[in-house]
Amino acid sequence: MGWMHTARFLTTAAQLHHLPPINVPEIAFVGRSNAGKSTCINTLTQQKQLAYASKRPGRTQHINLFSLGKQGLTDAVLADLPGYGYAAVPKQDKIRWQRVMANYLVTRENLKGIVLLCDPRLGLTELDEVLLDVIRPRVQEGLKFLILLTKADKLTRVQGAKALSIARLQAGGGEAKIFSALKKQGVDEVAQLLWDWSHEAPSDPDAAPSPAATQTALGHEPGNETASEHDEPTRED
Ligand code: GDP
Repeated sequence: MGWMHTARFLTTAAQLHHLPPINVPEIAFVGRSNAGKSTCINTLTQQKQLAYASKRPGRTQHINLFSLGKQGLTDAVLADLPGYGYAAVPKQDKIRWQRVMANYLVTRENLKGIVLLCDPRLGLTELDEVLLDVIRPRVQEGLKFLILLTKADKLTRVQGAKALSIARLQAGGGEAKIFSALKKQGVDEVAQLLWDWSHEAPSDPDAAPSPAATQTALGHEPGNETASEHDEPTRED
């Protein structure tokens, strides 16, 4: 879907309070490291390097935001959250990150949906379950939620169908889909779903920003250097 291909780097932040408040719908990608998150984002946006920014040394524990929208306007934002569960990360860092992520998922006001990437050969791990517990109340309140089973090309049809039915149960009020970057399976379907999430008519008129407000928040604020895709933010904590 062309809309996803408009993705461009917006900003990166190591701490929640460094993330700019944004008044367009935001969709967060989360998952265990190696789940296929970067490959999925790059496939959906048709940009080979976009999500690999998150893998650069010093950036692995940042939240990276990408703007989406045609003609330079931003009508949604993708948030690439750091992969968790990577064994080599020191325990203190893991705990800090679990806290940052939980706070993000619970408090981010413009968060519209969460995509949880999962390698179906492993299924949901303990850390995925912790995350599910954190977001469940928000999903019950209407936050969109998708469990995306990656690397589907590694499964037979029967295995895929079984993994999908388990994931659907685990998703609670959310949904589950199968995805393969290698076979381009599920790409259009997921792109369409994310578009629908971001453009759904709000039930409460006060809850959604007008496009004009969005422009002000993102594009025309004086000194908003982080909105430039050419800018490499240097802030480190
Ligand atoms: P991340 O740590 O979650 O960002 O995971 P990556 O996107 O780096 O992927 C982890 C590994 O899985 C890499 O070796 C990828 O090449 C591989 N991978 C990702 N998506 C697919 C897929 O759709 N099919 C197959 N066969 N391998 C994949």
